[in-house]
Amino acid sequence: MAFNIEDLYDGITISSGNDGNNYLILICIHGNETCGLEAILSLQKSGELKSLLKSGTLSILLANPKAYEQKRRYINCDLNRSIAKNDLKFDYEIQRSKIVEKYIENADFVLDIHSTSGPSVSHALPCDLSCSENFAKTLPVNYLITKLAHLTVEGGTTLDFAKKQNSCAVTIECGQHEDKKSIEVAISCIKQLFNLKALINPSLIMLECLKSFEVKKGFLFKQNFSCFDFVKYGQEIASDDLGTITCTNLDGGYIIMPNSSPKIGEEAFFWAISK
Ligand SMILES: [Zn+2]
Repeated sequence: MAFNIEDLYDGITISSGNDGNNYLILICIHGNETCGLEAILSLQKSGELKSLLKSGTLSILLANPKAYEQKRRYINCDLNRSIAKNDLKFDYEIQRSKIVEKYIENADFVLDIHSTSGPSVSHALPCDLSCSENFAKTLPVNYLITKLAHLTVEGGTTLDFAKKQNSCAVTIECGQHEDKKSIEVAISCIKQLFNLKALINPSLIMLECLKSFEVKKGFLFKQNFSCFDFVKYGQEIASDDLGTITCTNLDGGYIIMPNSSPKIGEEAFFWAISK
């Protein structure tokens, strides 16, 4: 089963020869997030990729080749906000979204592999389907955050589309870009994809995302937040021209994915509580 990186631009499908689920691994939805690609290349080199697949098929798609080659998040617009938008623009990512959609439509299980710009522990984001949450609970990551994937400001995520297709999809954030540990997390999660009878990860911390906050004019964090920082009731989080954003949850909550260079219209951060 020899393939090179360019073969993954249009996607490849490996068959086990036995009936079973169609698995899909999405890598480089954001071009500068390469731990998924590194993990695939490592598993190919060791010969494990083929032996992991006992039944069904495995497809692998390098979703944003141009951005990957240029080591950028995207070329024209965020691919993970462009899925099934039916936009008529000729943006590169709009063209690529059609290929991503085709692969998700055919998949029973999807693992969408990402990394983060700032330091972060690993976490899994299931789509809002019980099969997806059950799969995410088995993954060897630190946190599981439900609902977040469907609460982005713009929509159009891989998970928004997967939910509509009834596909058991999970996005994983494996750690910071370029951190070697993120590759290890990606490898462990890929192995788990084919082990659907696995037990729940006992050390997993489960959170539920309640909302995202959009960057508005004058937005400024009150302090330098890291992902998963806990905020107490009444604590000021940020302010913008409309006022101050304060924690109104009596039990406090968690800052998720604080945006280190917030631009108007993007998510400033997500807000989650213990589940
Ligand atoms: Zn990403």
